[in-house]
Order: sequence, then C-alpha cells, then structure tokens
Amino acid sequence: MRLALVNDERREAAPKLSGCCLGCSQPMTSKCGTQRVWHWAHRGNRSCDSWWEPETLWHRGWKDQFPLEWQEIIQRDEKGEKHVADVMTGNGQVIEFQHSHLPAQERIAREAFYRNMIWIVDGMRLKNDRKRFLARGNLLSVPLAKNLFITRSPESCLPAVWLNCTKPVLFDFEGFDLPDGSPREMQGKLWCLLPGRFDGYAVLAAVSRSWFVDAAKMREQIIPTDAIRWFVQKGLTARRWNYARPPHFGQPRGRRRAKY
Ligand SMILES: [Zn+2]
Repeated sequence: MRLALVNDERREAAPKLSGCCLGCSQPMTSKCGTQRVWHWAHRGNRSCDSWWEPETLWHRGWKDQFPLEWQEIIQRDEKGEKHVADVMTGNGQVIEFQHSHLPAQERIAREAFYRNMIWIVDGMRLKNDRKRFLARGNLLSVPLAKNLFITRSPESCLPAVWLNCTKPVLFDFEGFDLPDGSPREMQGKLWCLLPGRFDGYAVLAAVSRSWFVDAAKMREQIIPTDAIRWFVQKGLTARRWNYARPPHFGQPRGRRRAKY
C-alpha cells in the first residue's frame, strides 16, 4: 500500500516510520528499498485485501495524477466485505489500475463490488498486446465520429480477458514514458472499450490522458457512456442510410447531407 495511518494521519511510507493499515488497523512496516516503489507492508507481508497487487511505477504514475485523499479508499459492502479502491473520485467513481493478469472471476467480482467503476489496464505488460493493437491501424483510420471507432472483431486488436467487461476499460499502451515508434495519432491517448455491443459492434473511444484526468475531477461519470451510445447510434444510422442509396439518388449531395 502507498498509505498507512500514522498518528491518525494518512501518510506515505518513509524510512523508519511505522503505522497501521487503513483497512484492518494492523501494524504496518515501511519498505523503502531500491528494488520496488516505497510502500507499506503488513508484518509478515500478508495483505488483508486479497485483491491487492504489488504496485509498480506505472500504478504510482497514475495515482500521482490524482489528489492523495482520493487514493486507497476503503470500500465496504452490506455484507461487511472490504477492499481498497486504488482511486475514488470526489464524485464517488472508483478507478482500478490493473497491471497483472486478472482471472475473469475476480474481474467480475470486482465490478460487482465497486459497481460505479472503470478500469485502466496496463497495455504494456505484454509486448504482443501493444504490437497487436498498433498493427490494427486500419481500424483506427476510419472513425465513426471524431475519436470513435467500431469493430466487429475486437478480439483481433485487444486482449481477450477484457472484452466482456460490464464497465468501461481504458487501455494504456504508452505509460508515462512514450515507447518508441508510436504512430502520431496514437500518442497521448487512452483507448476506452465501452461495455456491451452496438448492432454487433464493439465501440472504442480515444481520449487523451489530460482529458481523462480533468474529467475525473469534474464529471460524475468520467466516461459519458450514454452520450457515446447516442453518437454511435447516430453514426450507424447515417452509415446505413448512405449505403442504402446509390451515389446520385434523389437530391444533390449538399442538400441531402444537410438533412442530418
Ligand atoms: Zn490490513
């Protein structure tokens, strides 16, 4: 964990500091070595949250985008189950940062537990994931609307384990140090897979990191899924309308366009 209670204050790990766990109140030891990011560990190194994963620089890079008081927030359900949310915005939306592999069962359990949540997935952990996504440039070259893309085969460009989420999943293929060779149109972006399908299409929205961080501070729902749905429906209808008519059908092109 990044934070522990020291004299009733949430503090980051520092050398020779001792504190108590935010979740279970057990004593914590500060680990301030050179191998891993500085963190707090339960004595005996057994975390009280089975969902907790050791943090990487990627996790910390993301958490640093948000105020400390939004980080590591204890959440309880009505049965008394307790977990630590990576970040919870001022509007109560949980952001979970996922670096390591997540079994489908645990992903489903976390979505059910947090309810109002979104995922940010480290798309650089497996080199092939990033390579596969980059190779699908043709998908990204024909947007349905600005920054909106559709595909009937999301499995050809995104990791299979994240395809059937019930919450928005944002893939981070860049981290905080831009890897070499990213096409310009990909730079600085997160790729958000919306839950569900629209007429059989998976929908991807490209958002910039800075937009995402600002939206987390201002919007109740960071990803406006309803608005995106509306755009997608509108775009799909327009496409059907265009495909259904020969090029010179009816009125001149300019006037026909003006109708919608
Ligand atoms: Zn604990």
